[in-house]
Amino acid sequence: AHTIRLILGDQLNPRHHWFENTDPGVLYVLMEVRQETDYVLHHAQKIIAIFAAMRAFAGKLRQQGHRVRYVTLDDPSNRHSITDNLDALFARYQAQRMQWQLPDEWRLDQCLQNWAKAGTFEYETVDTDHFLTDRNEMSHLFKGRKQWLMEHFYRVMRRKWNVLIAADGSPVGGKWNFDKENRKPWPGTPAEPDDTRSVHDHSALWAMIEGCGVKSFGDSQAQTFRWPCDRDEALSQLEAFVEHTLPHFGDYEDAMSVSSERLFHSLLSFALNTKMLHPLEVVRRVEQAHEAGHAPLAAVEGFIRQIIGWREYVRGIYWSQMPGYDQLNGLDHHRPLPSWFWTGQTRMNCLRHSIGQSLKTAHAHHIQRLMVIGNFSLLAGLDPQELHRWYLGVYIDAFEWVELPNTAGMSQWADQGLIATKPYVSSAAYIDRMSDYCKTCHYNKKQKTSDQACPFNALYWNFFEHHGPTLRQNPRLVMAYRQIGKMNNEQRAEIRNRAQWILEHIESL
Ligand code: FAD
Ligand code: SF4
Repeated sequence: AHTIRLILGDQLNPRHHWFENTDPGVLYVLMEVRQETDYVLHHAQKIIAIFAAMRAFAGKLRQQGHRVRYVTLDDPSNRHSITDNLDALFARYQAQRMQWQLPDEWRLDQCLQNWAKAGTFEYETVDTDHFLTDRNEMSHLFKGRKQWLMEHFYRVMRRKWNVLIAADGSPVGGKWNFDKENRKPWPGTPAEPDDTRSVHDHSALWAMIEGCGVKSFGDSQAQTFRWPCDRDEALSQLEAFVEHTLPHFGDYEDAMSVSSERLFHSLLSFALNTKMLHPLEVVRRVEQAHEAGHAPLAAVEGFIRQIIGWREYVRGIYWSQMPGYDQLNGLDHHRPLPSWFWTGQTRMNCLRHSIGQSLKTAHAHHIQRLMVIGNFSLLAGLDPQELHRWYLGVYIDAFEWVELPNTAGMSQWADQGLIATKPYVSSAAYIDRMSDYCKTCHYNKKQKTSDQACPFNALYWNFFEHHGPTLRQNPRLVMAYRQIGKMNNEQRAEIRNRAQWILEHIESL
């Protein structure tokens, strides 16, 4: 082979332009390495799903007549570093040229560039043919602005890709955003759609991974394992979503319930982030469902906003802020994560369900991530970098370009408001409005300072008091500070004491 082309574990796009022709002079390389299993402690299902999908992808390429070298984790020649393996493969195949698709993570981007610069071969990077923006597009758009509003970016994207735009150039339905009609609590009907995804038995692959000594957490069991491992599975998942789930997506987008883990979310993030599906094909399919009268505009617009809006937006943030974004700690929070992040064993019902579900399925939906786990973490002053590593490890869809801006920026305000105009915090009132968690909780959602009072409540007011110097001037927090202003000294002291007690007993809440 004269050319080696590297394919990373999140670059499983069978429609990439590379694969249009077969060329015996090109060797495709995929590898399972400890560098990638170990850069953070991962959920077992995440490791299994990525390796299983890589294996299926390599198989497909071979079937199409491409030359493939697949290095398994237990291959005796595996050096467990991407670039050390590449060195060995270069020598073995006497290659002269190296090509790779632009990595989405800064870590790997640097690693490959530094390696190639030190080498004596020709090298070239190509696009992944996946995103709707290039890495630096958003920096150009927001140049010189202090705040980078998603809504502004989203409208630019709608126009750029002609998504839900009427013939006269206006947004379909006369508005850009229909969220006022969305976001209801879920009363228990309509029923959660059946999970039509196929169940995989990956026990042999898992035995190999464990046999190699890879550390992990979360449930590895085959019976709970339903992540798509190739494009065909991902496409049938998309169809099932559009058919049964999309019509209710908007209504219950922010709802949470003890009796439904999924509600009406798509569970497409793994397929999207590993590039089995293209964002625009998902968007067009959903748009078409609306045109065919199958799904209301509010649901369709809300869903599309997540994909062409938020998903591309956080990627733009990532590339504009790295390196360094992973070090930010705008509120100076340093408390270690309580051990129940790894067990789900807490009496706080909302957290027990959200973390428990994350450990069981490697997934939680957006509001669980933001307004339960993230909310508590921010109120309790947990270390945003340690929290970032937890999110990066636990979720099936977590790759740093999308996870870090969501965790550190949107959820923990570590960037002091570059993404979020105010910190996403709430007391029990919000969680109670959007879920049924509080109904069966050990704690009392209404009380602030009693022994049984919901911990979110005292922590919430304490958070604003404590961060007064940083947050008081924020125009979006006027109401919160006005309410604090109405409390007398005794009430404030009670809240402070209760918050203090909660933080000291965080392990046993
Ligand atoms: P749906 O609710 O069905 O949404 C559809 C799609 O929209 C998702 O598949 C996803 O591709 C996209 N999307 C929705 N919200 C976002 C968002 N805020 N940012 C980027 N894309 C979005 N998403 C990840 O893909 N990887 C992560 O590591 C990740 N970490 C997160 C951490 C925190 C603290 C928070 C608050 C959110 C995070 N998200 C992350 C965003 C979101 O929670 C997940 O994309 C979503 O829950 C995935 O499930 P789904 O496919 O059923 O999503
Ligand atoms: Fe969570 Fe508090 Fe509600 Fe319990 S009462 S479920 S801890 S918000």
